[in-house]
Amino acid sequence: MVVYLFDFDGTLVDSTGAVEKALRIAIEKTMPAVIESELYDEYYQALFLFIKGKLTYRHLGVIHELVAQGTIHEYYNLMPKYIKDLPWARRVVRELRKRGRTVISFSGEHTYPGGKAIFMKRTNWYDEFDDVITFKSTKDMLQKFWGLRSLYPEEPVVWVDDSPSRFTYILDENTLLVQKSSPYKSDVALLFERDNFLKINSLRELLEIDDALSELLGEG
Ligand SMILES: [Mg+2]
Repeated sequence: MVVYLFDFDGTLVDSTGAVEKALRIAIEKTMPAVIESELYDEYYQALFLFIKGKLTYRHLGVIHELVAQGTIHEYYNLMPKYIKDLPWARRVVRELRKRGRTVISFSGEHTYPGGKAIFMKRTNWYDEFDDVITFKSTKDMLQKFWGLRSLYPEEPVVWVDDSPSRFTYILDENTLLVQKSSPYKSDVALLFERDNFLKINSLRELLEIDDALSELLGEG
């Protein structure tokens, strides 16, 4: 039995374009007067930092205004509509489950509490997984990873993520770390020296990796 962990944004879905589009339309819909003014860039920037969890005190006044006008609410309402599945994402997840693999969504929480689960439900991804786990920080991620490890002590784990920096903390030999290449993320050179690290261009390659694992484990 193999356990698969899948990151969400950038791994199974492309949300970068969706973020930009939803930010712009949310401002246009809730604060039309701002579009034509020189305030637009400031509002856009504040909203962007807010959703990335990187808000600074300098923007608090603007954020107050964005909350009052319903812009943030509108953003979260619009964003899931613009999220697109990456090629092969759904087919691969479904095929792995059909093969009896345990497939767990393992990804960082959005700034908005519970936002990740809401996004997954609205993009019809939530039910594609055996379990959905979200984490807030690196520390939280590691605790949840080791929690899973103790739940599946003997099983090989395959962790697929477009952020290779997360893998640098994982020294578990029975976990295969798979970096899904992304135009937005840089490689971590050190990982390429590890035997349990792979980088893939297409999610489709996971099916071949799974075949190889299956053979290795003496299944079928
Ligand atoms: Mg990601």
